[in-house]
Amino acid sequence: MGEGREATGGGGAAAASASDLLEALVDAGHLIPTGTPGLYGRGAAFDALLDRLEALFDRLTADDRAERLRFPPAIGRALFERSGYLDSFPHLAGTVHAFDGDERGHRELLAALRAGRDWTGRQAPTGLVLTPAACYPVYPIFAARGPLPATGGIADVASWCFRHEPSTEPTRLQLFRMREQVRLGRPEQVLDFRQRWIERARQLVDMLDLPARLELAHDPFFGRGGQIMAASQRDQRLKFELVVPIADPQRPTACMSFNYHQDHFARSFGIRDFEGAPAHTACVGFGVERLAMALLRHHGLDPTCWPARIRAALEGASP
Ligand code: 5GP
Ligand code: ZN
Repeated sequence: MGEGREATGGGGAAAASASDLLEALVDAGHLIPTGTPGLYGRGAAFDALLDRLEALFDRLTADDRAERLRFPPAIGRALFERSGYLDSFPHLAGTVHAFDGDERGHRELLAALRAGRDWTGRQAPTGLVLTPAACYPVYPIFAARGPLPATGGIADVASWCFRHEPSTEPTRLQLFRMREQVRLGRPEQVLDFRQRWIERARQLVDMLDLPARLELAHDPFFGRGGQIMAASQRDQRLKFELVVPIADPQRPTACMSFNYHQDHFARSFGIRDFEGAPAHTACVGFGVERLAMALLRHHGLDPTCWPARIRAALEGASP
């Protein structure tokens, strides 16, 4: 990992632009357009690749003894409100609404639908918010358990995540799979975790032979105030990303993120360390589809033709 290789890997899908890459992925049957930008079905080979990447993550993290937790892809409104997401990313959130009218309301809804008018007026909030990042459900659970043990905590999570950013760029999906590890504890435990993960990511991209680079990064905070938050996040070196050129060689795509939240989530949810002080947290996450697209982009659209070393890494055999 480093300034490394050129973005045009031998045998890769020759995509000069996002629309070329999308077309190539669709033609190969990996993505199935649904008519909505950023919302795709997945073909069998692509789906198998996503599962292999998750299995590789399992093998890489087998010794961590992380607590495996799985949640449906929505969180409750109270959790969402406490997380602070609306302060930073109101533009990305997706709330779930449902019809709450009576029969008359139903007739009005159908009349509006048939007349081609807006029928959503009768949809009321359900109290569910689509999960924006796989780690969110973890924080209240650890808070409810009382102070962390001296060794802190570590969780392994995976979720479908929603972000309202419709795009024709295939690496920017509205609904995508995210796999994460979350570390909770003392600042030094959490920073050590993040550092070890940065080294692990280096191992991962070597195994997969991807031209990746580690970059200081910031989240897409909303509005003008967001620019100040982004600058502060960068100044404090809170977020790093592992970027790989996928759709645009000039603008590589974040495939993994390494986030240090300091005590933000611990204060919001009341997570205490073993001495009763607000804990610190960090999470490391990867976008499963993005890593899959990086592989298809650099090694070719047919995974059965990839170099043996990469196939072995994905299949769990020793190289
Ligand atoms: P973060 O919470 O740092 O924005 O995202 C965590 C990881 O999720 C990123 O490193 C990236 O790999 C993945 N991710 C973020 N946004 C998208 C997206 O729009 N589409 C896909 N496929 N993955 C994303
Ligand atoms: Zn996270």
